[in-house]
Amino acid sequence: MTRGRLFIVAAPSGAGKSTLVNALLEREPGIALSISHTTRAPRPGDVDGVQYHFIDRAAFEAMVAHGDFIEHAEVFGNYYGTSRAAVEPILATGRDVLLEIDWQGAEQVRRAMPESVSIFILPPSRGELERRLHARATDSEATIEKRLAASREEITHAHEFDCIVVNDRFEEAVAALQAIVQAARTGEPLPADRHAALIARLAS
Ligand code: 5GP
Repeated sequence: MTRGRLFIVAAPSGAGKSTLVNALLEREPGIALSISHTTRAPRPGDVDGVQYHFIDRAAFEAMVAHGDFIEHAEVFGNYYGTSRAAVEPILATGRDVLLEIDWQGAEQVRRAMPESVSIFILPPSRGELERRLHARATDSEATIEKRLAASREEITHAHEFDCIVVNDRFEEAVAALQAIVQAARTGEPLPADRHAALIARLAS
C-alpha cells in the first residue's frame, strides 16, 4: 500500500489557522489531524486525547529522551511535540496526516521527512492580525502583546515553507489549501506565489 502524505501547517497566532484547518479537514476526509503532546494546561473545553495529550514536563522529557517525537519545540513557555505514534500508523495505512505545529517543529519535520508538504498561513495585514487576536477575547492584553511581538519573528520563517496561503477571504483561503492538497496528490506543481511584499510588510 502507498504511504499517506504528510502536510504541515504553521501560522502566527491570530492568522486563523485552526478554523482553516478544520474547514479543510471537513472537505478532505482523507486527511487525519495528528494529536500532539503538550505540557500546557488544558483550556476550558479541552479534552485530553482530543485537542492534545496533556502531560507534565517530566513525562515530556522522558519521551524526548526515549526518541518518541518526530519533532518537539518550546512555544510560549510550554513544550509541544508530535509523536511518531501519532503519525506513523496512519501514514502506513495510506491515509494523509496534517500537523498543525509551529515553525520550529516544521523545520525539524522537513529535515526528517523531506517529502512532506509545508504550508505557512499569513494574515492579510498587521492590523487584521491584531483585530483577530482581540476578537478571540480569550487572551489577556499582555498575552496578545506577546503574541503580536512573536508573530514578527514567526513570519520571517514563512519563506522556508513550500507554499504560502493568505487568509484574507476565508473561502478563498480554504480553496487555496485544498488546491495544495490536490496538487500534492496528483504530483502537479505546487502553487508558487511567495507573497514577498506582504511578508516584508508583516515582518517590519
Ligand atoms: P495552542 O497552545 O494555542 O494550542 O498552540 C500554541 C502553538 O503551539 C501553536 O503555534 C501551535 O501550532 C503550536 N503547536 C501545537 N502542537 C505542536 C506540536 O506538536 N509541535 C510544535 N512544534 N508546535 C505545536
